[in-house]
Amino acid sequence: MSTIQLNQNSEEVEVSKIKQIQERYGDIDIIDMVHQFLTTENAANQQKRINEGRLGKFYPSSIGKCKRAVVYQMLGYPTKPIPGQNLLIMENGTSFHNRMEDIFEKMGILVAPELSLKDEELRISGRSDAIIWNFLKSDDEEDAEEITLYDPNDKDKVIYQGPANHILIVEFKSIKSKNYLKLPKSKPDKKHEMQLQLYFYLTGIRRGMVYYENKDTQESKFFHVFYDEELVQQVKSDIKEVLDYVDRRELPEKEGNALDIMCRYCDFRNLCHTPISEEEWLEMYFEEPEAS
Ligand code: SF4
Repeated sequence: MSTIQLNQNSEEVEVSKIKQIQERYGDIDIIDMVHQFLTTENAANQQKRINEGRLGKFYPSSIGKCKRAVVYQMLGYPTKPIPGQNLLIMENGTSFHNRMEDIFEKMGILVAPELSLKDEELRISGRSDAIIWNFLKSDDEEDAEEITLYDPNDKDKVIYQGPANHILIVEFKSIKSKNYLKLPKSKPDKKHEMQLQLYFYLTGIRRGMVYYENKDTQESKFFHVFYDEELVQQVKSDIKEVLDYVDRRELPEKEGNALDIMCRYCDFRNLCHTPISEEEWLEMYFEEPEAS
């Protein structure tokens, strides 16, 4: 093939590539293109989960959420399309986890970046955040019971085997300034504490921490969390309550009304409340007079 023919061919490929992009995105700007791509990709992944029968699992991050929303999700009810901007916010949270795990690894304190979490009774199949060496262990502290933990990507690969008190489990949370400033003084947000209690129950680890980052300023703070039998029982009974609703294919009562912030950001808002457009909703929300 001559050089002129080769150039012509590559030019044709370029023109057809550009045409494809124009057909796919129309005349929207680059930001809307990104958002549209993310929303479509997310919806396709959701559909894939449903097609592969990956419904009915309880995700530890669902602890503390509206039970009705968790049941909707477990039963595969359709969500409203998730705006690209929200998906970018979630992506930011994932990047924070990865960044911290890299740093912990370089510091020499990381045991594993994540850990397999499984429990048939509670229908949990997921992964935790990082496991680190227990640098808080005192010399006179006796070794606790031996535990074995597995890699979430390879169920037969052991990533830790040893006394439970030689390691800590860390849950990373990247939160807005407003929520960061509202954190309690001496303990993490209740739902994050409950999430760690569930991890303790599932892994045998008995101590951990919630490590917060203020996503607007990059300030950080952490709270230690210790195993608490009462909270473990509470979290197990909350999950079982959700599973009972799922088995009966019934929905729990709504936990909020259309104006509550929890419903505002809920993916199932249009199933619980009158479906309205984002613009109409914002208007209603911001025009609502303050309670006296
Ligand atoms: S819209 Fe509100 S009540 Fe309905 S599932 Fe979501 S958070 Fe719960």
